[in-house]
Amino acid sequence: MIISDDNSQRENLAIMITCPRCQHKVDSQALQCPYCSNILKAYGHPGMTLHQAVTGEFLCETCLYHGDDSCNFPQRPYATSCTLYKNSQIIAEKIPPLPLPRVFKNWCLRNKGLLLLLTLILGSIALAFINSRR
Ligand code: SF4
Ligand SMILES: [Zn+2]
Repeated sequence: MIISDDNSQRENLAIMITCPRCQHKVDSQALQCPYCSNILKAYGHPGMTLHQAVTGEFLCETCLYHGDDSCNFPQRPYATSCTLYKNSQIIAEKIPPLPLPRVFKNWCLRNKGLLLLLTLILGSIALAFINSRR
């Protein structure tokens, strides 16, 4: 009969990540890399991942918030570490494209004013054309 305690089960379930500095596998909950002392979590909080760029690159180059111009962090566009980094390439792959009718419906909802104006102009032209034929 094999008796296993909770701690050994937890160790087996630990998710491993790669340290961006030394490339060793470390526990995803580790605050600091046990091999090179690289800080992996911001403010000592296990839930706050400190994303880090590969040497010679900047995180902002592939960040969603740089792409949509919504980031106002002072370190942008040269951030080498950031807690808010979101990889735009991974997110773009996860979101499936909308079907064409849905895209058209969304466009119409966003441009109601323009559509109303076009309807008024076309209606006026049609009325003027009908009146000129009498
Ligand atoms: S959230 Fe961070 S990585 Fe993203 S653009 Fe802003 S500073 Fe750069
Ligand atoms: Zn390391």
